[in-house]
Amino acid sequence: MKIIAGNWKMNGSRSGLAAMQKSLGEIDTENRVVLCVPFTMIDGAGGPAAIGAQDVSCHDHGAFTGEVSASMLADAGAKYVIVGHSECRMYHGDTNETVHAKAEMALSVGITPIICVGETMQERDAGKTLEIIESGVRESAPNDGGDVIVAYEPRWAIGAGITPTEEDIADAHKLIADILDSMGRGGTPILYGASVKGANAAQIMSIPHVDGVLVGGASLKPDDFIPIIMATK
Ligand code: PEP
Repeated sequence: MKIIAGNWKMNGSRSGLAAMQKSLGEIDTENRVVLCVPFTMIDGAGGPAAIGAQDVSCHDHGAFTGEVSASMLADAGAKYVIVGHSECRMYHGDTNETVHAKAEMALSVGITPIICVGETMQERDAGKTLEIIESGVRESAPNDGGDVIVAYEPRWAIGAGITPTEEDIADAHKLIADILDSMGRGGTPILYGASVKGANAAQIMSIPHVDGVLVGGASLKPDDFIPIIMATK
């Protein structure tokens, strides 16, 4: 069983989500499928895919215009939330510290945070990949308080149509697994994300410690997403 999570970013519609759920209802898979959609779609169409959000406030409630709290997400039916996505780190100033607070908020209401970590191109070129991954996991993942998912997303490969080598993915995932073990979080699922598509999904998911994938662009249409889900049953 793998976890196949889609990140719709700022795309899609309620009718598109209903159509996706209908298509997902027609396939036979033991994989766990999650769709992280814009806030406006969270209470939309039910179906086989669990619904997640793409961000959450690190505050509980109050004067934080434009923010959505974890309890509001739970109220709308979200079971998962992505925290620390590269685009939130880049455009909204998320840091490991705020990502940690967001993950704790999610856990406090029973939502599973999908905690994203990964290096920029500049960090990669400086030979800092493993260091960034290590600090990302240690500082972003809460030590206790329920199950989490970690997603390794090399930031330079997101939406770029390129992926790291299999060896690089294997090294990153082994490091993350070891760190989680040392934090008392052994067995935490670790997803790979960035430029996953039908053509490379099976190979990526055969790499040790890759427990599933986080998919951006290729999660928007059933014709692209279903081959990824079916790449490993
Ligand atoms: C993402 O944004 O989380 C992602 C993995 O994007 P893409 O699959 O389009 O690279």
